[in-house]
Amino acid sequence: MHKVARMDPAIGPPNCLVCNRGNNADDPDSMDDFWAMDLERDVNWGDPAYICKYCCEAIGAEVGYVPHEQLDAANATIKEKNKEIHKLQAETDSLRRRFRSTRLGKKALRSTKEQLA
Ligand SMILES: [Zn+2]
Repeated sequence: MHKVARMDPAIGPPNCLVCNRGNNADDPDSMDDFWAMDLERDVNWGDPAYICKYCCEAIGAEVGYVPHEQLDAANATIKEKNKEIHKLQAETDSLRRRFRSTRLGKKALRSTKEQLA
């Protein structure tokens, strides 16, 4: 099987096996977004077997498949959040070092005051 941009009417009826849709996209999709899966099988004595994009997505959702667009969006979000986490960890480390040096300075000052008294 392979993905095709359009179901070819020259081969046979260009209809989805599941929903009987032709080469037409749902709103808001355009025909640029539309595709179909050619199952490379014959049905009804030589007619092609196609499954439209929407039925493929429904089948994928039924078996737990995540569409590429959602996966890319999730990966982009994870990458962005990892950068934020890295930046916050760097700020936390910087503040921890400053706090530690301030605490050591306060301790040294107290020790010096005690020696002078
Ligand atoms: Zn369909």
